[in-house]
Amino acid sequence: MKRAIFPGSFDPITLGHYDIIKRAVKLFDEVIVAIGINAEKKYMFSLDERVQFIKDAFKNEPKVTVVSYEGLTVDFCKKNNVKFILRGLRNPADFEFEKAIAHTNRDLAPIETVFLLTAANTSYISSSIVRDVIRNNGDYTKLVPASVRVK
Ligand code: ADP
Repeated sequence: MKRAIFPGSFDPITLGHYDIIKRAVKLFDEVIVAIGINAEKKYMFSLDERVQFIKDAFKNEPKVTVVSYEGLTVDFCKKNNVKFILRGLRNPADFEFEKAIAHTNRDLAPIETVFLLTAANTSYISSSIVRDVIRNNGDYTKLVPASVRVK
C-alpha cells in the first residue's frame, strides 16, 4: 500500500493545498494530511479547527486522512509505515527551501520526497497571505476551500 504524508501547518488549508491533495489522491493509496505541532509557533486557528477544515473539505474522499504529530516527519513515517513525503512547489524559493529539507530527510531515513508543481491558478496562494486578508477583513473565501470559515 502506497502511503504518502503531506506535512504542513495548514493555518488554514488553502486552495493550493487542496489542489495538491486532490492530485496526490490519484498517485497514492492513502494521503495522510499531517499537521505538525510546533510549540514555538503562534497559530491563527486552533489545531482542532485546522483538522476540522481539512476533514470537511475531504469528507467525500476516503483516501484522505487527517492527523497531527509532534517531532520529526521521518519519525512519523517510520512509525506509520509511510514511504513518501509529499510537498508542493510554488516557486524557486520553495524549491531551495524544500531541497535542503528533502536532502536532510534522506540522510535520516530511506523515505522519498515527492514534489508536485502547484496549479498555475493557485500558485500565488499561501496561508500567511490568507491570514493577512482575514486579519484585515478582506474576502478570503476565494482563497480557501468552503469548509474554512472564520467565526
Ligand atoms: P509549512 O509550515 O510546512 O510551510 P504549509 O501549510 O504552509 O506548511 O505548507 C505545506 C505544504 O504545502 C508545503 O509543501 C508547501 O509548499 C505547500 N503549499 C503551500 N501553499 C501552496 C500552494 N498555493 N500551492 C501548492 N502547494 C502549496
